Amino acid sequence: MNVLAEQYVRLVLAVGQHDADYVDAYYGPPEWRKEAEARKLPLTEIASRAAALSRDLAAASQTPAGDEMAQLRRHYLTRQLDALRARVSMLTGTKLRFDEESKALYDATAPTHTEADFAGVLAQLESKLPGNGPLIDRYDAFRSRFVIPRERLDAVFKAAIDGCRSRTLQHITLPPGESFTVEYVTGKSWSGYNWYQGNYRSLIQVNTDLPIFVDRAVDLACHEGYPGHHVYNVLLEKHLVRDRGWLEYSVYPLFSPQSLIAEGTANYGIEVAFLREARMEFERRVIFPAAGLDPTQVEAYYAVQALVDRLSYAGNEAARQYLDGQIDAAAAAQRLMAWGLYSKPRAEQRLRFIDQYRSYVINYNLGKDLVAAHVEAVAGTLDPTRRWQAFTGLLSSPRLPSNLIRGR
Ligand SMILES: [Zn+2]
Repeated sequence: MNVLAEQYVRLVLAVGQHDADYVDAYYGPPEWRKEAEARKLPLTEIASRAAALSRDLAAASQTPAGDEMAQLRRHYLTRQLDALRARVSMLTGTKLRFDEESKALYDATAPTHTEADFAGVLAQLESKLPGNGPLIDRYDAFRSRFVIPRERLDAVFKAAIDGCRSRTLQHITLPPGESFTVEYVTGKSWSGYNWYQGNYRSLIQVNTDLPIFVDRAVDLACHEGYPGHHVYNVLLEKHLVRDRGWLEYSVYPLFSPQSLIAEGTANYGIEVAFLREARMEFERRVIFPAAGLDPTQVEAYYAVQALVDRLSYAGNEAARQYLDGQIDAAAAAQRLMAWGLYSKPRAEQRLRFIDQYRSYVINYNLGKDLVAAHVEAVAGTLDPTRRWQAFTGLLSSPRLPSNLIRGR
């Protein structure tokens, strides 16, 4: 299996020569990357080698029953390779519909929604934010009181990271030396990004193009850091790459099922780290004061945010209709604003994200819901320690989206 895994890693690196977003992280042998850069295999050659590797994987001797990790490994490698072949096919001109694409790349399809599905939540927001003019303007005005001032941003993030890290370390043993650095950047289609460097280190970038609201401090610190992407990558490196020598995990192809698990665990990890009451207490005591905001407004702010979060599937719907050619960019922005309460600049930023990453959008909300269902099916909802254990188990093993346990 190690020989086949090496061929897979080399193919991922080869695709990266044609698609700048494809290789999200790589910390395997540096000479493999140098060789990929030097050879720059054409996409047609990558496609035929990937097809041959798929056949070799199918023909490889079966792993013994009972060795669950070995079976997960084989199954996962097979499916990741399928996604690579789909991405190569897209790069050579194949057009997939939104749902076909998300199934091929992320092993999942998002449910469809209509305007009526968001109407109930929008009506509740109407009554929480009374006044004249469109709801989106009232929400914008309300939210503008909760912006982290630019000069306080770094201190607020550091406080949030400390809180997320200390909660995570009570439940997850991380290898010594793990750490990350934070940078503030502009001109990106995303709001935050974790670039895993290997050696248990991450570079986390925070985009300051648009005002950053106070809820983003803990959300980003958990999502990008602890117990989100940084911890996920650290545990994969520790348990799979170093302890087992499974080098296929030293490369992370962005357009693959791994991304649904990565984004889903990063988003669900916020709730694993902070049950609601603990979150409110931490916001009141630490985050709002660090941001210079009035801590008596915590409950009011999060009551509104909890409703707005329930509109997140509006983003998938706008992306699906736009990418499937049913609506144009202006109409998609309109959907994001009317159904998802995106402000105009945020809707425009989101459209740039959709243009760049396409059906990747489902990994955040559907990923979170699938991960939540899996963890809660394994551990129940009552015991936080069991929940941490199930969550950590998912972070440390190669499980595909379609193998997550469904139904709570
Ligand atoms: Zn993420």
